[in-house]
Amino acid sequence: MSSERGAAILLVCDGLGDRPTVGGKTPLQAADTPNMDAVSEEGINGLMDVISPGIVPGSDTAHLALFGYDPYRYYPGRGVFEALGADMELHQGDIAFRANFATVDDSMRIIDRRAGRRGSKELADALDGLEIEDVRISLRNTTEHRCAVVMRGDNLSRLVSDVDTHVEGGTVGKCRPLKEGEAERKTARIVNEFVRRSYEILNKHPVNEERRQRGELPANILLLRGAGSYKEVPSLHARFGFNAACVAGASLYKGVGKYLGMTLITVEGATGKGDTNLANKAEAALHALKTYQLVFVHVKATDSMGHDGNFQGKKEMVARIDKELVARLKDTDAYIAITADHSTPVSIKRHSGDPVPVVMKGEGVRRDEVKRFDELSAASGGLCRIRGLDLIPILADLMGYYVMYGT
Ligand SMILES: [Zn+2]
Repeated sequence: MSSERGAAILLVCDGLGDRPTVGGKTPLQAADTPNMDAVSEEGINGLMDVISPGIVPGSDTAHLALFGYDPYRYYPGRGVFEALGADMELHQGDIAFRANFATVDDSMRIIDRRAGRRGSKELADALDGLEIEDVRISLRNTTEHRCAVVMRGDNLSRLVSDVDTHVEGGTVGKCRPLKEGEAERKTARIVNEFVRRSYEILNKHPVNEERRQRGELPANILLLRGAGSYKEVPSLHARFGFNAACVAGASLYKGVGKYLGMTLITVEGATGKGDTNLANKAEAALHALKTYQLVFVHVKATDSMGHDGNFQGKKEMVARIDKELVARLKDTDAYIAITADHSTPVSIKRHSGDPVPVVMKGEGVRRDEVKRFDELSAASGGLCRIRGLDLIPILADLMGYYVMYGT
């Protein structure tokens, strides 16, 4: 039976969708993309509302939808993905957070909410394993100033507010319960005590003394946000019957992959930034195709360029993805699908509800007339307009992992 079934590569260019900007074109329209265009010409094209029309997706909820998991049902909160992406172990009921090392002065006023964008494993280790009441806290420094934090104990809740207020100059925020309940009150109390202790321990830590002596900002407090509550969900394999692998640089996407039961492939030089090594990602994806039926390849930098309002940068990143990634992936026997998790128009520097282009190429696909991969051309393609939740079922059917309804 398995010999009748195909494999697929799903390439997600984060925040790829855009609006007409320079010369009336989107960065994707303006970019040189001969390989993506070849996929469009041989494939079936369309637009996709990743969550639903006009709803602005976060990258986390968007990726759940892209893999066929209704985010309104399955979203555990961002912190869970950060912790899983940082390779931390999670148990049912654990509460996970994203966290930043930050710099505060003696009166708890925030000088830099990213501590000069520099973290430290030693500082993270100084906080790892703390116990407050019956709760044990684990912590890992992921990239730069970012950390993931896991709290394990009885009766905890994700329904608590962020400590990180995203503003500098103000004083450190307090974590508050978002619902009247003992679990919420307890979690907020533990978070506030943890933040207080983080200052107590970090402020006098030798690593920070050295940083001060060098004229650098000390990373003397930890600010938490994005509480999530871990619970197991049925894996992609359980739901669709195929094994999946994840080729991503940024921890959020690794976390989503792990949450859905994918195997994480470690790629040298995959940074989740503009300097990421796309050739290595292509190699890793092609190698993974020998073992896995679905290979998810994620590129982050297109979204970052959108947030920076950098039209030229986004256009050049798209051209790099075309040349260094799509050129290598497009001619295997596997299906290839290229899309985005949402639009991040450079004109507004944030995610938007604009639908994203999607293309699928491979055996048996009903080829349409579209010859270019972009937001406008895709609108006249044979896939018409689908939702994110439809993507994997459509691919799975093409691959032969179909689910029949009725007899
Ligand atoms: Zn995104």
